[in-house]
Amino acid sequence: LQSKLPNVGTTIFTVMSQLAAEHGAVNLGQGFPDFPVPERLVDELDRAMRAGHNQYAPMTGVPVLRQAIADKAQACYGCQIDADSEVTVTSGATEAIFNAIHAVVRAGDEVIVLDPAYDCYEPAIDLAGARAVHVPLDPRTFAVDWERVRAAVSPRTRLLIINSPHNPSGAMFSPQDMQALAELLERHDLLLISDEVYEHIVFDGRQHESALRYPEIAARAFVVSSFGKTYHCTGWKVGYAIAPAALSAEFRKVHQYNTFTTFSPAQFAFAAMIREQPQHYQQLGAFYQAKRDRFRQQLSQTRLQPLPVPGGYFQLVDYSAVSDLPDAEFARWLTVEHGVAAIPLSPFYQSPPAQQRLARLCFAKNETTLDAAIERLEKL
Ligand code: PMP
Ligand code: GLN
Repeated sequence: LQSKLPNVGTTIFTVMSQLAAEHGAVNLGQGFPDFPVPERLVDELDRAMRAGHNQYAPMTGVPVLRQAIADKAQACYGCQIDADSEVTVTSGATEAIFNAIHAVVRAGDEVIVLDPAYDCYEPAIDLAGARAVHVPLDPRTFAVDWERVRAAVSPRTRLLIINSPHNPSGAMFSPQDMQALAELLERHDLLLISDEVYEHIVFDGRQHESALRYPEIAARAFVVSSFGKTYHCTGWKVGYAIAPAALSAEFRKVHQYNTFTTFSPAQFAFAAMIREQPQHYQQLGAFYQAKRDRFRQQLSQTRLQPLPVPGGYFQLVDYSAVSDLPDAEFARWLTVEHGVAAIPLSPFYQSPPAQQRLARLCFAKNETTLDAAIERLEKL
C-alpha cells in the first residue's frame, strides 16, 4: 500500500510519553496536567449522566453549551456570536482543526503554517490534497515576520493557520500582529484558523488577542478552542469552533460525517461550569502563572536557560550549556539517562533552525512532580 501520509510517524508526544514510562522518567514532555479536574466538573458530569443525557447530542452540540460558549466569547472578547449558526462543539480542538481545513481547502490549494507549528495541522492539509507552505517564526522570540508571510502568499493560498498563545513557545500575538493579520487576510482574500486552545492561560496582565476581538478577522475565521486545556481534562476531548454562519455550515458538513456528535454528558457539564463558575477560567492565568514562576525560579538553579513564557503551559529551555546534541537526541538522553522527559522542537518544523538547542518542558504539573524533575535537572 502506498501511504497517503508517507512522512507521518507516531507523534513525538506519544513517543516521549512511552519512553518516559519505560524509563520511569518524570514526564514533562506531552502536555497534560497531572492534577485533578475541578470537583464541580465531576459532579456536573455525574449529574448529566444520571439525568439521562446519554444519547446522541444534537449534531452541532447541545444548545445550552453553545449558548454558554457564545455568551462567554462575548464577555471575554466583546463579540456577538449566534449560538445556533456560529458555534459547533467538536471532539477536541483536533477535530475542529481537521473539519475546518477539510471544509474550505481544495486539492492544489496552499495553506500557510508558521513554524514551529503544532503537529496536527499539516497531515490534515495533506489529506485534503493541499500543500502546507511553512513560514518560520523568529527562532528566539517566535515573533511573526509579516513580510515573510506576505511573500509566501500565492494565487493558490486559501488559508492561514495561527496559534496564540503558541505551542511550543508560549509566544503571543500583539495588537500590531492582529493589524497585520487583518490587512493580509483582506488583501489576499484568505481564510483563517485561529488555534486559541490556551486562550485563558496568559500571564503578567497581558491580553489574549483573540480573533474574535476583531470583526474583520472574525468574518474570515474559524476560532478553535479546547475544554481540555481550560478544565484540566485533556482526556475528555471536547472543543469547539466559532465561525460565521456560512463557514460554520460547511464546517458542520464535515463534522457531521467525521464524528457526527461529541460526548453528550460532558457538554452539559461544561455548560454548567461556564455559567456557574466563570472564576475558573478567569483565574486560570493566575493559577498557571504561579506554577510558571515557581518553576522558572527552580530552573535558575540548573544549567538550563529558560526563555520567556508569555502564555500557555510550556517552558522552553536552552540546553546549550549542558549538551551539544541535536534536540531529538538530547530529549532522548535527558529521558533515559537523567529521568526527565522533554519534547524536542524539531518535529514542529519543516526545516528546524540549524544549531537550535531548545527543549520544551510542560509545567502543568503538581509541585511534587516539578520538584522531582528539578532535583534531577540540577545534576546536569
Ligand atoms: N492545538 C494546540 C496548539 C494544542 O496544543 C493542542 C493540544 N495539545 C490542540 C490543538 C488539540 O487540542 P485537543 O486535545 O482539544 O484536541
Ligand atoms: N497538545 C499536547 C502537547 O503539545 C499533546 C497532544 C497529543 O499528545 N497529541 O503536548
